[in-house]
This record gives sequence, C-alpha cells and structure tokens, in this order.
Amino acid sequence: MSQTPDRREPAQGSTYEVVAIRYGTRETSKVDSYHRYPEYGEPDVKVDMDYFFWVVRGQGRTIVIDTGFDPEVGVRRGRTVTIDPADALARVGVDPAQVDQVVVTHFHYDHIGNVDLFPRSEIVVADRELEFWTGPYATRLLVASPTESNEIRRVQDAARDGRVRVVGEQAGIAPGIDAIRVGGHTPGQLVLTVATEAGQAVIASDALHYYEEYELDRPFAILTDLEEMYRAYDTLRELAEPSGHALVAGHDPAVMTRFPGLSDETAEVAVRIA
Ligand SMILES: [Zn+2]
Repeated sequence: MSQTPDRREPAQGSTYEVVAIRYGTRETSKVDSYHRYPEYGEPDVKVDMDYFFWVVRGQGRTIVIDTGFDPEVGVRRGRTVTIDPADALARVGVDPAQVDQVVVTHFHYDHIGNVDLFPRSEIVVADRELEFWTGPYATRLLVASPTESNEIRRVQDAARDGRVRVVGEQAGIAPGIDAIRVGGHTPGQLVLTVATEAGQAVIASDALHYYEEYELDRPFAILTDLEEMYRAYDTLRELAEPSGHALVAGHDPAVMTRFPGLSDETAEVAVRIA
C-alpha cells in the first residue's frame, strides 16, 4: 500500500474532502488488542489506541462518519479526551445543525456517543447492526460491554421519528460515496469508500483498528464473527490495494502521521485524507 499521490487514480465526477479527527487516546497492550494474541508466540508490548471520527465535505454536502464517545462516558471508561468531539467539529468548521448525514459505522460507545448533537441529520446504519442491538443477544455481557444502552436507544428513537436510513450489504450514501457492510467486529460494521480528487479513500472504521491487523492478518480482540473479520480484511485489501488508495484505520495512531495535517490551527486534531 502507498499513499503517494502519483500512484492514486484521479476520480471522475463528484469528489470530496475527507478529514480524520482524533479526539481521544489511551494506552493498551497487544494482548488486549488482538484476538488470542498468545497464538503468535510474541511478547506482549504496550501500544497506544487513538479515537477518531471522520468528516466528508463537498458537492454542497457535509457527512459525519461516526460521532465519537460522549466525553463523560469516555472518562468513566478510562479514556483520555484530547478534545471534546463537539469542539473538534467547531475547530474544523462543521456546524452539527448543518450536517446532512451521519453514518454510524457500528453501535459501540466510541462511535455513537454524540448522535444527539445532530438533531436534523439523516442517520445511516446497517440493517444487521440495528437488528442485532435491538435483538435478544444485545445485552449479553461480552457483546454489550462496549455499548451504552441509552445511546442505542437514541438511534432507535430516531428510527421511530423516521430519521434513520437502514442500508444492506452495499449502498450509495451520496454520489461517489458508498457504504459496504462487512460485519466481523460487530454484525453490521460498515466501511465507507469516498471519491476524492486524489483517488478513493477507504474509511475502514473498526473493520481495521490497527494497520497491523491487515498487514499481519491478525484479528482484533473484540469480534462477533471471526470468519467475517478475516473476510473484511480481504475486502479492505481489494478496495485499497490496486492503486494505492488511502486506507484509513479506525484507531491507529499512525493515521496522524500517514496523512498531512489539515491546518496549523488543527494540529494534533485533524489530518486530511484527501
Ligand atoms: Zn472503535
């Protein structure tokens, strides 16, 4: 994979600016990050996990992909808030009231926490995600622990208000922007592809926490289906490799160094994917 612009194909038609926003961090370890890590026969080491969400702008449209964790919830869970997601949006010039669509890639607390900042936006979720988290297994400890039930209820309420668009295996979100349901990490985990001037950006969200998962074929610790998680890595390979498209991992601190800063004012908060 390469991020060099000359290897990426210029997109035709509608293109967008994609911004990754880093709003939180914590220290963890490989044993806690990888599924059955001792299988690899390597010593445990400490690693940092960063927390991101993404803004897509262009064609008169603003789309927010995931909404980060509620700062109070993050602190309760031992995460460090580097910037309140609401403040981060202001720093990159996004008014939540003017956001057309919010894509929720999955229902974990760190992706769904501030949905109520966007009362006017259409919320896009996968069919299997909504079904699972409103179904009989949603409250079992090991699947429920990365969620907040009141936050899931907010999406259900929005669905009752007719503000939620439910998508299946593949769906167009806007011209040049597609959502692909890959599952694995959660039943309806979504990946987004976005046409940019420099080529296609692939926003993996938590289909890829760390680049190493994809490079070494090592599933992440939290999953609902191992086969789907492996298949998601293959899907990301197909989407990202042929012409060096920009692949954006969901929690890897390397995102902040692989891509250029958005501006001096947003240093350590935002990078431009394209
Ligand atoms: Zn996450």
